[in-house]
Amino acid sequence: MSADKLQNWPGVIRQYQRHLPVTEDTPIVTLGEGNTPLVPAHNFVESIGGKFELHLKYEGLNPTCSFKDRGMTMAISKAKENGAEVVICASTGNTSAAAAAYAARAKMQCVVLIPNGNIAVGKLAQALLYGSTTVAIEGNFDEALRIVRELGETGKVEVVNSINPFRIEGQKTASFEICDQLGRAPDFHFLPVGNAGNITAYWKGYKEYFSVKLSDRLPRMFGYQAAGAAPIVDGAPVEQPNTVATAIRIGNPASWDGAQAAIAESNGHINKVTDEEILAAYKRVATSDGVIVEPASAASLAGVIKANAEGMIPDGSVVTATMSGHGLKDPDNAIKNAGFEPTVVEATREAVMKVIGL
Ligand SMILES: *Cc1c(COP(=O)(O)O)cnc(C)c1O
Repeated sequence: MSADKLQNWPGVIRQYQRHLPVTEDTPIVTLGEGNTPLVPAHNFVESIGGKFELHLKYEGLNPTCSFKDRGMTMAISKAKENGAEVVICASTGNTSAAAAAYAARAKMQCVVLIPNGNIAVGKLAQALLYGSTTVAIEGNFDEALRIVRELGETGKVEVVNSINPFRIEGQKTASFEICDQLGRAPDFHFLPVGNAGNITAYWKGYKEYFSVKLSDRLPRMFGYQAAGAAPIVDGAPVEQPNTVATAIRIGNPASWDGAQAAIAESNGHINKVTDEEILAAYKRVATSDGVIVEPASAASLAGVIKANAEGMIPDGSVVTATMSGHGLKDPDNAIKNAGFEPTVVEATREAVMKVIGL
């Protein structure tokens, strides 16, 4: 690819417009999202004794640092096309960051409802700095989403949560990119499951690419919920979901049916991982392969570790995993869980040499 081409990635809508519900008249609101790296994680696999290929779809490198940008470029572009002036969403943080950024570009008002006190600091910073009207409710994500649905029914605001079908349409482009990058579809795809929009979207994307012969197979979809917020695994909504992985701290997923269909149709698997397992995977991938992700993203890697231990990944398999958001979104957890602290010494060469053991 020429350098010129690399600089001209047009964002996911223009890149994949043949596969998306847009027309010549759709005003495209983009920040150049998508085209994120697919990073091989050899050291991680070696460290868990695996004999398969693992590729991390590093979605933290999107413009607002999570995969939510793929869905939001679609949702805001379509809202603009339909003449909306105010968009609204409930969010554990990343949807609000993306909505606020794309709404700002589209010159729309954006209202975000977040659970008070349960949002990573970087995500709060984003919503505030992009200029959205930020409302922190004394309740959890599920309660925020119920209020947003009710407000949507007034017809005065456009809801840009993943109950908006255009969000799913945009998010499915991640599967297209993975197939384009690998030159084939993977055998397994691992991802975290919260509101379950993304697993629904990825499966839709893989099926569509396969049906037009742009890929040669369909992956098995492996989804992972946090043990304290595992309604799909446990088979019932969770009243008080709780997990360190705030992006998947959801007790009643909007796309529950979509997730179940993806798992059933792909001969996939859904399971839960504890916060301990999530944080161990979170730390492992940072130290083994230099990839930092937020705790929710590490749920997919905790899933890889678990599935490998259970003998579910045959040798030689090609495995992909979604690294859904950037680790710097949540610096509090990064510092708390790193397990290292800076060593403070006097400002001399000798003192530094002593620390390194030279
Ligand atoms: C939104 C989000 C998830 C969960 O995705 P769903 O589509 O709600 O299942 C996981 N990780 C991160 C970082 C997210 O922002």
